[in-house]
Amino acid sequence: MLLMDGCIFRQVLCFFVLVAVGHSAARAQSETVQLREPAAITVSSAAASRVPVRSSPRLLPPEPSTVQSRVAGLQLPQYWMDIDLDTDGGEVHVEETVRWTNPGPVATKSLVFHVVPNSQPDEKTLAIAERTVESLRLDPRNTIDRDGQRFHLKSVQLGGQSLRAHFDPEADTHLHIQLPEEIQPGQSVEVTLRFDLDLPPKQGRLGQHKGVTNLLNWYPILAAYSDQGWDAVPYIPWHQPWLNEAGVYTVRLRLSPGQVAATGGHVVARSVDAAGHSILDIEGYGLRDFTIVASDRFEVYESVSNGIPIRVLAFPEHQGHARLCLQIAAECIEQYSDWFGPYPYQEFELVESYFGWNGNESSGLVMIDERILDVPQLAGRYVEHLVSHEICHQWWYSAVGTDGYREPWVDEGLAQWLTRFRMEEKYGQDAEVLDLPGGSKWGLPNIHYRSLVHSGYALYTSRGGDGKTLASLEDLGHIHNLFFLVYDKGSRIVGMIQHRLGRERFFGFLRLLYAEYKFKILRADDFQRLLEDYTGESWAQFFDDWLRSSRTCDWKLANVDTFQEGDKFRTVARVVQQGDIAEPIEVALHLAPSGNSRTDTIVEAMPGISGLADRQWNDSNSRQIDEKTWEFSFVTDRPPKQVEIDPDGWVIDQSPGNNDWKRGIKVRYSPLYTPLDEARLMQPFEKPAVVFGPGFDNEGRIGLRGSFIASNVFRVSPFLAYTTETNNENLALGVDSVFYNAPWPNWQLGLRYEHSLLTNINNDPGDQAKLYARKILAYTTSLIRPDLSYFDFYARIGDNFFPDADTSPMAPPGIDDYRNIRAFGATFHADTRMPYWNPRSGFQFDANYEHGFVAFGDGQTYDRVDSQFSIVQGLPEGHGYLSETRVAARVAAGYGWSDNGEHFRFGGPGRFRGRHSDETEGNAFWLTSLEYRFPLTGELDLEVVDNLAALRSISGSVFYDVGESFLFDKSQGGVDQAIGGGLYFDLPLLSFVETLTFRIEYGRSLERESGVFWFGLYHAF
Ligand SMILES: [Zn+2]
Repeated sequence: MLLMDGCIFRQVLCFFVLVAVGHSAARAQSETVQLREPAAITVSSAAASRVPVRSSPRLLPPEPSTVQSRVAGLQLPQYWMDIDLDTDGGEVHVEETVRWTNPGPVATKSLVFHVVPNSQPDEKTLAIAERTVESLRLDPRNTIDRDGQRFHLKSVQLGGQSLRAHFDPEADTHLHIQLPEEIQPGQSVEVTLRFDLDLPPKQGRLGQHKGVTNLLNWYPILAAYSDQGWDAVPYIPWHQPWLNEAGVYTVRLRLSPGQVAATGGHVVARSVDAAGHSILDIEGYGLRDFTIVASDRFEVYESVSNGIPIRVLAFPEHQGHARLCLQIAAECIEQYSDWFGPYPYQEFELVESYFGWNGNESSGLVMIDERILDVPQLAGRYVEHLVSHEICHQWWYSAVGTDGYREPWVDEGLAQWLTRFRMEEKYGQDAEVLDLPGGSKWGLPNIHYRSLVHSGYALYTSRGGDGKTLASLEDLGHIHNLFFLVYDKGSRIVGMIQHRLGRERFFGFLRLLYAEYKFKILRADDFQRLLEDYTGESWAQFFDDWLRSSRTCDWKLANVDTFQEGDKFRTVARVVQQGDIAEPIEVALHLAPSGNSRTDTIVEAMPGISGLADRQWNDSNSRQIDEKTWEFSFVTDRPPKQVEIDPDGWVIDQSPGNNDWKRGIKVRYSPLYTPLDEARLMQPFEKPAVVFGPGFDNEGRIGLRGSFIASNVFRVSPFLAYTTETNNENLALGVDSVFYNAPWPNWQLGLRYEHSLLTNINNDPGDQAKLYARKILAYTTSLIRPDLSYFDFYARIGDNFFPDADTSPMAPPGIDDYRNIRAFGATFHADTRMPYWNPRSGFQFDANYEHGFVAFGDGQTYDRVDSQFSIVQGLPEGHGYLSETRVAARVAAGYGWSDNGEHFRFGGPGRFRGRHSDETEGNAFWLTSLEYRFPLTGELDLEVVDNLAALRSISGSVFYDVGESFLFDKSQGGVDQAIGGGLYFDLPLLSFVETLTFRIEYGRSLERESGVFWFGLYHAF
C-alpha cells in the first residue's frame, strides 16, 4: 500500500492551483482566514490440468481436489470458493471449503481465521479513521463504515458434521472453529463455511461506490501457524496488517448481468447462464489473498510482458492514464522479473476503483484509486511511481509473504526502495516529477523526486521524532509515522544494503531471497540471516543500528587541506562522525574543469563498499584516524574545486548541510514568483537554496521577493511589496522569516518586519514588526488552514491593528484607535472539527490576551482579552436527508480597557455578519450564533482544466447572529440581530490534493435594516 506519498505530493501540487486561482482568491481568503469484458483467455496450468474445469453454468459447490504444492515441502492451504456476487442487491453469498495441513510442530484442536468484515470499529478506531480520511480529502460519510459487522456466518461443517465457531471477544476479526479431534503435524483437515456479506454503500475494502464493488480482505482466511500454534495478528484498519500463508485457490464466481470483474488468479473458463449471469471459473496458485473488483463501467486495455498477459480495467474517461498504466505494468513486469526472478502468477491485472488511499496491492491484482487516474496528464510520472511501487509488491508481499502487522518494513521498505531505484535509473537522480509545459527552461518550480519520497523522515526527526523502523503498526501508531519511518527511512536502509553490496551482488541477493521465500513468509530475522550467509559476514550491527534502534548517522566534513607538491595537488579531507553510526561513505573530489582531463570527479570510498573498483583513483586513499574520524587523500594534477561527502546520497545523514567543503547554494530565478516557489518539495533535496523573482506573495501583494530556504530549518524572505488597498497605495520593504523547530522541536520562531516607503497620515509610523514564538500542539494536513492547535507568544509594533486598518477612518477625538503601539500578547487556538472543509463534528476554541503601550501616548497602556468557542454536530445517522445536515453554534466575547479604545470590530465575515467590518468598533462586544447547514446537491464532479479544479457539491445554510458592541462600556445602539443564509461550494483542487470551500453569505441587520454580502473560504466558525 502506498498512501502517504500522496499526502506530501499534494502539498506541492496544491500550490499550482493557488497560482492558477491567483491574486483574487488570495484577496478573498484574507477576509476570512483569521481564520470491459476481456477476451476470454484460457491459460491452462499445471494446476488447471489437475483440476477438472466445469463448464456447467449451474452453481455447484466446487469439489475438493488434491492440488499439491509445486514448491517442494510446501503444504499450502487450499481454498475452494463458490461466490454469488449480487451487486444489485448488495449481497454476497459464499460457500468456502478450506483444506489445511498442519505444518507442525504442535497439534491443534482448532482453526483460526481472519474475518475482516466482522470488525466493528470502536470510538478510538473511528477517531483515527476520521483524521486519516480527512488527510486523504475524502468524505467520511462515503468512507467510514461505522456499523461494521458485515459478515454473517450461516454454518461451519466438517464431513457433514456441524462445528462450533465463535469470534474472539478480544479481537472481533478472529474466528475460532472447534475441531472434533486434534490435528497432528502432517495431518490435514477440511472444513466448509457458508456465509453472507452485506455490502455497505462505502468506498474502502468492502463496499459499493458509484457502481464499483470492492471485495478486499473479505472472506475467512486462515491465520498463520507457528511453533506456538495459531498466530492471528490484530486488525489495524489504516494499513495492511496481513500475515497470511500463500494459498491455492479454485473459485467459481457468479456475477450480476453486465458486471465485469478483475480478480487475483486467472480465469480458466467462463459462461453465461439463462438469466444473464457471468460465471467465471478462476484459479490461482500461491495467492496471499483473493480480491474481486466488479463494475459495469470498465474498459479493458490489454498487453503482454515476458509472456504474462496484462490487463488494465479503467473508466472510459481515464483512457490516457489507463494506457500509461498498461505501459508501466509491461515495463515493470519485465524489469522486476529480471531483478528478482520470474513474475509469480499467470496474469496481471490493474483495476481502477474507489477505495480512498492511492494504491493497493493484492495477489495478481493492483488497485489504483480513481482520483489518481484523475490527476492532470502533467503528473503522469507520479502515477508511474505509484504503479511501480504496487507492482513491486507482487514479489514482495504477495509471492514472498511478510508479517505486515509486526514488520511492515520488510515489504514496504523493499517496494519503496526498488521503486525509487527504478525511477532514478529511468529518469536520472532526483529528477523532476511534473512534466510542465516548457520544461525547466522557463524556470518553473517543479517537484524533486527525492523530496517527494524522502522528505518525510527529515521532517519527522526535526520535530523530535525518534521511533524505530522495525516496528509494528501498533508501535507506529498512525499512518504518518509509518510513512516517515518505514517507507522513507526504511527504503533508504534497503538502499544502504545495496550501497554496501554493490548493484550486481544486491540483485543477486534479492534473487536468492525470492527463490528461498517464494510462497513462504519472510521475516526481518530471516532477511538478516540470509544476507549474512550470502555475504559471509555479520550484519547484526547494521540491523541493530538502522532498524532496531533510533540511532543516527551524521558525517561532517571537518576540514580540507590542499598542498601543491611539484606539479601535483594533494587534497586531504577529514570527515568526522558526529552521530552513532559510522556508515561507510564515499567522498568525492571535484576538479576544476580542463580540456584534456581524464575525469572531473574522483571518488574514494571507505572499506565496506563494493562495486567501486572501476572508480578508484590510483593516487588516492582513505584511512581511519580514530573511531569517529577518517581521512581521505587525493593527488591530482589539477586543483580541487569541491569536496563532497556521499555525492550520490546513499546514506541517511542527519544534517546534510555539513557534507560539503564549499557550501554550494543553488540559486534559481523564478519569472513569476509565487508561494509555490517556497515549498519544500520544490527545493533540491537536502541542500539550501535561494529562489527569487517578480511575482506575488500569499497576501496577494505584487512585487519582488526572494527566499533563502533550508528545509525544516528556516526560510528567510526579503521582499519589496506593492499594494493598492482600496484608495490607499503602499510600497513596503521588509523581511518575512520562519525558523522551524526552534528553539525546540515543534516550536517556531517567526519574525516579520516591514517599512513603508510611501507614507501618509493614515499609515504612520511606517514601521511594523511582529516577533512570535509558537508551540505547535497538533499539525494540520491542510495546505491553507492554520495548524489544529498551538500557543503563540508575540510582541509587535506598528499600527496594523486590523488587517486593513490603514484604510479605516480616523477615530473621532476622544476615542483611541491605537495607531502606533508596542504590544505583547498570547494566543491559543484549538480546532477538532472534521473534515475541515465541511465539518460534521468537533469544536473550535480561540483566546487572545494582549497588553500594549501607545507610543508617544504619555505612558498610556491598554489591555484586551477576547475568546470564541464554536461547535458543529451532524444530525444522527439513519434519518435520510436530515442526517446529512448539521447544526453549528458559537459564543464570542471581548473586553478591552481603557474603555475609550477601539479594541474590537463588531461586524465582519468572522463576527456579526449583518455589519461591515469597520462599521462598528468598540471596547467590548458579545456575540452568539446559531446556524443550520444542509446539502443542496449530491456529488457533481464538474471538472475544469484537466481536473486542476472541480466542483464536488454545493451546500447551503441559514443563520442567526445576535450581539452587542460597547464603547465607553456603553452599548453602541443596543442589541442587534442578523438573519442570513449562505452558499458553500466544495472545490477539490487537483483531484485529491486540497479541498477549498468557497463561501458566499448574506447577512441582514434587523436593527439597521441593511445587509452585507460576504465572500471567502471555509465556514465562518
Ligand atoms: Zn506498499
